[in-house]
Amino acid sequence: MRKFFIIVLIAVFGFVGYGVYAYRTADWGLAPDPRVRVMETSLAPTEAVWTAPLLQGLLRKTLTREDAGAETALGPVGQSPFTLSLTLPQDFDFEHRVRLLRYEDPVFDDRVSAWVPLALEAGDYTLEIVCSAPERDGEGYGSFRYRCSFTVEPKPEPTLLTGRLELEQGDIVSLRLVHVPPEVTPRAETELGMAVFTPDGEGAWYTAIPVSNAQPPGRYEISVQAGDRDFVVAVNVLPFAFVEQNLIVNTESTVITEASSPAAYREYREKIPPLFETYDADRYWHGVFITPAVGEISTAFGTIRYTNGNRARPRSHNGMDIAAPEGTSVFAPNAGRVVMAERLLNTGNTIVIEHGGGLKSYYFHLSRIDAAPGDRVEKGALIGAVGSTGYSTGPHLHYEMRIGNRPVNPAMFSDENAGLYSAASATFADAVPALQDNT
Ligand SMILES: [Zn+2]
Repeated sequence: MRKFFIIVLIAVFGFVGYGVYAYRTADWGLAPDPRVRVMETSLAPTEAVWTAPLLQGLLRKTLTREDAGAETALGPVGQSPFTLSLTLPQDFDFEHRVRLLRYEDPVFDDRVSAWVPLALEAGDYTLEIVCSAPERDGEGYGSFRYRCSFTVEPKPEPTLLTGRLELEQGDIVSLRLVHVPPEVTPRAETELGMAVFTPDGEGAWYTAIPVSNAQPPGRYEISVQAGDRDFVVAVNVLPFAFVEQNLIVNTESTVITEASSPAAYREYREKIPPLFETYDADRYWHGVFITPAVGEISTAFGTIRYTNGNRARPRSHNGMDIAAPEGTSVFAPNAGRVVMAERLLNTGNTIVIEHGGGLKSYYFHLSRIDAAPGDRVEKGALIGAVGSTGYSTGPHLHYEMRIGNRPVNPAMFSDENAGLYSAASATFADAVPALQDNT
């Protein structure tokens, strides 16, 4: 009887002891540790219930945990369409239930064994995952619940960035489009002249639009189309005070007579204006342009010229003359593709370089040509030498810049604050190589 009493006492203590142990301690080492990862972030369970077998299954211990604060806020995870990546534990005998809500609406709600990536549109999402093991003899069972929230942001709309929009005659309007979908090639239209968008990095496009010396001051519009998005840009053209110059030319000279003959002008018209219509779809130039030759500017861009005092027929000087001794090196002011390298009656030894998007540089009266059509030249490459061939009164480089058929001021190309660079991306910020003269 006494022995029996002791056994009962031990049993009661045992049960009470186990009860105290079961309630007071939560030994989660007895439970599995399923790792659920969303977008590479490990989630902590918000709720867990696990029943573990003890003493070879003679006893069971149930662990419970609730921690609403464990809900993970992932914040913005990307732009739509966004692929949701989810890693579900595969090393336990679990069933997974995944519920995904966009705002309050279910996007996905099913039992899965593994997660198939899902493309999501923009919105705020709540994700709930339950990993559960069914009750089985001799093994642990229970469930783990996870919750997290995240946002998928809308893809940015095409945006137009404008450079300076108040410009003098001879300057350039530059525009940059960003967030353009890959299938869209933007277009621009304006009476200012040629406007070709060239690629400028991922989803970005750039265009340089001329404001020629002959553009009457006033307000002009540029319409830009990028897929189904339209933009209108207003440009204010201000007058530039072009200087006047009386050019003294010896009309008796046979060289001058030949260089200004009807045949010379006919040849010019056949060779040069057709180039105005052409453009390369890629932009080759980068960084600020260098000056192609060392020398003094003898005639500025846009100078209104009379010949031998004849004021009846003024002509506009569409380039910039750099006076330099015969043989002075002429360098490519920026990267491009040589589209002409030949001797013409009027312009003498002539080189034309396409820099992309219809922006071309023209070099007249050279003594020597060191480039061939089709050549790709880098900034600073030697292309020829200063001379006095064609219609010229002395050694100088006639340096002309045009976008399409519209002349623009070559002096502005070496000014990093010019309109050309004002819608600049990082690709413009290259160092300017020093120009050296080897004459
Ligand atoms: Zn000139």
